[in-house]
Amino acid sequence: MKVWDKEFVPFISKEEIAGRVQALGQKITEDFKDKEVVVVGVLNGSFMFTSDLCKEIDLPVEIQFVRYASYQATESTGKVKELIGFTNNVTDKHVLIVEDIVDTGYTMNQMIEDLKQFNPASVTVVSLLFKPEAVKVEVPVHYVGFEIEPRFVVGYGLDYDGRGRNIPDIWVLKQ
Ligand code: 5GP
Repeated sequence: MKVWDKEFVPFISKEEIAGRVQALGQKITEDFKDKEVVVVGVLNGSFMFTSDLCKEIDLPVEIQFVRYASYQATESTGKVKELIGFTNNVTDKHVLIVEDIVDTGYTMNQMIEDLKQFNPASVTVVSLLFKPEAVKVEVPVHYVGFEIEPRFVVGYGLDYDGRGRNIPDIWVLKQ
C-alpha cells in the first residue's frame, strides 16, 4: 500500500490487534477492580486504540484526552510540545495513559512529568506498540500490546504525515 510517496507492507492484522486489545482490557479490569480510574488517551494516534480498549474494560471509567506533538513525517524530533494538557480531575485517581506507540520515550516522559503536578493516586502506561530498541529515555510501559522492531508503522490510528490513521490493520514501511 502506498501512503504519500512511501510503500508499506502488512504487519499486524486487525484480528491480531483485536485479540491483544481484548486480553489487555481483561487484565486491566482485574487489576483495577474497585479503583477510580481515569483513562487518558493520547491524541491523535491512540484514538482508535483508546476507544477499542475502553470497550474491553469492564469498569465504569472516566475518559479524557491529551495531545502532544513530537513527530515530523517519519522522524522523532526529540522535542515534545503539549497541545492539550491534563486537567485536575485526575487528582487522587488512578490514571491509565493510553498510547499508540512508545518509541524514543520522550513523549511519555514529558507526560508523566506534567501529570505529577495533579497528584494522581497512580500512573500506569498502556501502549499498543513498543519499540524497546528505540528507547532514548527510560519510561515505564506497564501493559504492551506488541513489542516491535524500530521500524516506521502506519494504520490503526498511526499516520504518515497526516494520512493512514483510518487503516484497520498496522502496516510497516517497506525496507
Ligand atoms: P516518542 O516520543 O516515544 O519517540 O514517540 C511517540 C509518538 O511518536 C507516538 O505517539 C507516535 O505519534 C509517534 N511515533 C513513534 N513511532 C512511530 C511510528 O512508527 N509510526 C507512526 N506513525 N508514529 C510514530
